[in-house]
Amino acid sequence: MDKVLYSKPSMGELEFEFALDALHNGWGSNCYDYIIEFEKAFCLHLDVPFTVATSSCTGALQLGLAGMGIGPGDEIILAETNWIATVAPIIHLGATPIFVDIDPFNWCINPSMVEKAITNKTRAIIATHLYGNLCDMDYLLNIGHKYNIPIIEDAAQAIGSVWKGKKAGSMGKFGTFSFHGSKTISTGEGGMFVTSDPDLFESVLTLSNHGRCKKEKRQFWPKFIGYKFKMSNLQAAIGCAQLKRIDELVSRKREILSTYREKLCVSDRIKMNPDIPETINGAWMPTIVFGTKTGVSREILLNAFRASNIDARPFFYPLSSLPMFDKKPENIHAWSIPDRAINLPSYHDMTSQDINRVCSTLNQIFKKFINK
Ligand SMILES: *Cc1c(COP(=O)(O)O)cnc(C)c1O
Repeated sequence: MDKVLYSKPSMGELEFEFALDALHNGWGSNCYDYIIEFEKAFCLHLDVPFTVATSSCTGALQLGLAGMGIGPGDEIILAETNWIATVAPIIHLGATPIFVDIDPFNWCINPSMVEKAITNKTRAIIATHLYGNLCDMDYLLNIGHKYNIPIIEDAAQAIGSVWKGKKAGSMGKFGTFSFHGSKTISTGEGGMFVTSDPDLFESVLTLSNHGRCKKEKRQFWPKFIGYKFKMSNLQAAIGCAQLKRIDELVSRKREILSTYREKLCVSDRIKMNPDIPETINGAWMPTIVFGTKTGVSREILLNAFRASNIDARPFFYPLSSLPMFDKKPENIHAWSIPDRAINLPSYHDMTSQDINRVCSTLNQIFKKFINK
């Protein structure tokens, strides 16, 4: 039996065509053509005026925070449940991350906890749309408005997610996306910075290009020390093709999530990614969470998946449980959910047999722990 992978990009004819074209022609005076096209197409897709293609989402986050002037003494509030990529740029800039608990309903940052964590040092709140689930953006944007603190969206996992007609990543001070091989659209590695703020856009553009201003006439004349977090033309060629297929790629993700839901949500002690009225869940990573009293643990799930030759991907560990941070077990949901949850495989080309294999592995667990 082949291994069922947890994720894998879908690369079609168009991706090959554009990549080959970039290889043949995308040099010299054409070396930015696909980058410019990808940035423009992303603006249209997201309905935002400014985008900067980057080498990664982590880089995009660091550029945005640096562009806002975040540094030592500043506090940034984010969810305790996050990939390390969301917090690393904060640390690199010398600022202090403040971890708050998640809501057990959508596994995203809990806005009332955010409000309690605000101090006179708070400079930003990062909303990570976990696994495609949307943060409560009305509540967060209200808090931002009330305290005059910018909301940043880490939308790395949320391409295709829509909050009341607005696409994830387009609602905050800035948003970031990832095109890592595990994400819904992929350029191998890559990311995107997006904003509606012209000044922040200018700062980030300059920072992303070694501190060289676009208006500067002299070649090799940086104004200050910046970063080199640019996407290559070759990656952007693949990105252009992927973005043309975005509707197809996202609807397949949503189809896989709803298939899992039909087959697996057999008890109210089993929860999967929610669908909230007036929103669309981009369904990046279907995830199953068992109730506290079921006795189902991460280890039981990981072992069962391994035995069936299915890629086992654990739910994110709470950041403060990692060796470099001070533990905050009072963030009870962030500390408890990963102990009884697992991400399920979902990629464009997975077959219904693959999905059935995942479901029958879980059904064996249901027999022992849920329907006993
Ligand atoms: C994948 C991911 C990132 C990092 O993306 P890279 O492109 O690998 O830097 C950041 N934040 C979240 C929430 C992610 O899922």
